[in-house]
Amino acid sequence: MNEPDVELPAPQAGVVAYFSMEIALESGIPTYSGGLGVLAGDTLRAAADIGYPMVGVTLAHRKGYFRQTLDDRGGQTEAADPWDPAGLLEQVPPTVTVRIEGRPVRVRAWRYWVEGLGGRLPVYLLDTNVPDNFPFDRTLTDCLYGGDDYYRLCQEVVLGLGGVALLRALNHRRITTYHMNEGHSALLSLALLREETALPTDNVAQAWGRVRRQCVFTTHTPVPAGQDRFPERLVRQLLGDADATLLLAADGLPDGELNMTGLALTCSRYVNGVALRHEEVSRGLFPDYPINAITNGVHAATWAADPFRRLYDRHVPEWRRDNLYLRYVVDVPQEEFAAAHAECKQLMLSEVERRTRVRLDVNALTLGFARRATGYKRADLVFNDLDRLRRIADAVGPLQIVFAGKAHPRDEAGKALIRRVYEAAAALRGRVAVVYLDGHDMGLVKLLCSGVDVWLNTPQKPHEASGTSGMKAALNGVPSLSVLDGWWVEGWVEGVTGWAVGDDSPTSTASAAEAESLYAKLEQAVAPLYHSRPVEFARLMRSTIALNGSFFNAQRMFVQYIGNAYIPQLAARPVRA
Ligand SMILES: *Cc1c(COP(=O)(O)O)cnc(C)c1O
Repeated sequence: MNEPDVELPAPQAGVVAYFSMEIALESGIPTYSGGLGVLAGDTLRAAADIGYPMVGVTLAHRKGYFRQTLDDRGGQTEAADPWDPAGLLEQVPPTVTVRIEGRPVRVRAWRYWVEGLGGRLPVYLLDTNVPDNFPFDRTLTDCLYGGDDYYRLCQEVVLGLGGVALLRALNHRRITTYHMNEGHSALLSLALLREETALPTDNVAQAWGRVRRQCVFTTHTPVPAGQDRFPERLVRQLLGDADATLLLAADGLPDGELNMTGLALTCSRYVNGVALRHEEVSRGLFPDYPINAITNGVHAATWAADPFRRLYDRHVPEWRRDNLYLRYVVDVPQEEFAAAHAECKQLMLSEVERRTRVRLDVNALTLGFARRATGYKRADLVFNDLDRLRRIADAVGPLQIVFAGKAHPRDEAGKALIRRVYEAAAALRGRVAVVYLDGHDMGLVKLLCSGVDVWLNTPQKPHEASGTSGMKAALNGVPSLSVLDGWWVEGWVEGVTGWAVGDDSPTSTASAAEAESLYAKLEQAVAPLYHSRPVEFARLMRSTIALNGSFFNAQRMFVQYIGNAYIPQLAARPVRA
C-alpha cells in the first residue's frame, strides 16, 4: 500500500542578508564597540553552525573602534586602532558607487568567512578608501561611531545603499529577507524602494508594501535618546530631493527629521525587541507597531572557556551541535564545576597580575564587571557606600572586584565613571582590592566572564535592552548578581542562577536603595554561600549552566529568528497580545 504524500508545502525561507553597523568577527579585528557588534557576530556564528544561508554586511572600520589607555587616576585617552583588511581578507572583485551630495563615492568590499559546523558564510566589509574617491570620502569607513551627523549619515548611506548595491553586483540571488540589526542600516529600504519604483507606473505606496515584505528589524534601544536621528535638511543635502520624496511618501521623514528607528519600523514586516522586558518597553515607545520579543543569546562554543568546553565534551558531547544538551549537565557531579572554575579563575588572576602587577587573592569572593563605560550601566553603584563594603568584607570574608570597559571618546560621563572606580579603588586599598583593566575586547570579556566568581550588573532600568555578558558568564557556570532589567528578568531564579538586586518594577527608583539591596544580598546570601558552603556554590554553578546556558545561547535565538521572522508565511501571523 502506498503511503499518502505529505501535502503541506515545507515553509520556505530564502537567503537572509544581515546588516549591522558593527560585527565582532574575531578579537584581532577591531570592528566593534560592544554588545551590539558581539551579538551580530554571534548571530552569524550560530547561522553557520546551523548551515542557514545568510550573508553579513557591515563597514570595514579601518581605524578600529579605539585603543584605550588609562592613566593612574583612570583618565582615559584614545588612540586609533588601525588594522589592514588586505592582510587578513580577500577583496571581492566588484566595486559599486553610491551618490552623496551628487558626487560618486566608490565602495569596495572585503570578504570574511564565518566558519561553523554547518558551513561558512560570507561577511562583506564595505570600504570607501579607494584612490578614485575624494580625500574626505576615503575616510567614511574609518571610524565606528566617529565624527558628526554629516559623517554618520554618510556612513549609513554607504552601509544601507552601498550594501544593497554590492549584493546586486555580487549576484547574490534568492535574498528574501533583509535583516536590520538596529536602525543604522535602515536606508537599505530606500535601495529596495528605488528598485520597486523602477517602473514609472508604480504607485509608491504599493512599492513600500513590497519593500515591507522583505525587511525585518531588531531594535536595541529602549530609550528615545538612543535613537539615531538626522534633520531633513541634511537628508536632502546628501541624498537629493527625489529620495527625500520617496522617504516622505513612506512617512520616513516625520517632523522634519529622519529617525532611523522610525524608518526601520515603517519598512519592516516583522519587528522584535531583544528580551521580554524590552518588548514591553518598546511597545510603550512605539505603540503603533506590533513588536515581538526574541531574547538575545551568545554563541556557546565561542564563549565557553576551555575548561568548560572540555567538561561539556566529556559529559554532553552533543552540546556544540545542539546547545539544549547543556540542560543535561544536571547529572554531572558538582566537583567537576568547581574544578573547571578553579582553572578559569587561576588563568584570570595570572592575566590580571601580568597586566597590572597586582596579585589578587585566589580565595577572595571575586566580582566582575566588564561592559561599555556609560552612564546608565552605573559601574560605580557598588561603591555607593564604601564603609558598608569594607564592613561586609571584614565580616563575611575577603572580597575583590575586577573591572573593564571603554567609554566612547565623547562620553564625558562615561569617562568620569572610570575615574570614580579608580577613586573608590584608592579609598578601599588594603580592605577590598579593586582593579580596572584597559583594552576591553572579546578576549578580555571571555577571561573575566569565566574567571570571576560572580558577575555583577547594575544598570539603571529600563536602559538595559538585554545585556549579554551575564549570558557568557552563565555558560561558564558563573552566576549573576544583577538588577532585574533586560535578559535577567527571564534568567533570574533566586539562589539557583544568581541573585536579584532591587525589586522587579520596570524602572529604577533611587540608586541608594538599589545599592543597599546589593549590599544586603552580598552580605546575607552571596558571600556566606561562597565562603562557607562551597558544595552548594558548585551546585549553583551547575544549575546556572543547566537553566541559563541551555537557553540564553545564539542557537536558540537563531532558531527563533527562523521560525518567527525569516519564514514570511509564519511571520505574517498576528503577534501576541
Ligand atoms: C558581551 C560583550 C559586551 C556586552 O556586555 P553587556 O553585558 O551587554 O553590557 C560588550 N563588549 C564586549 C567586548 C563583549 O564581549
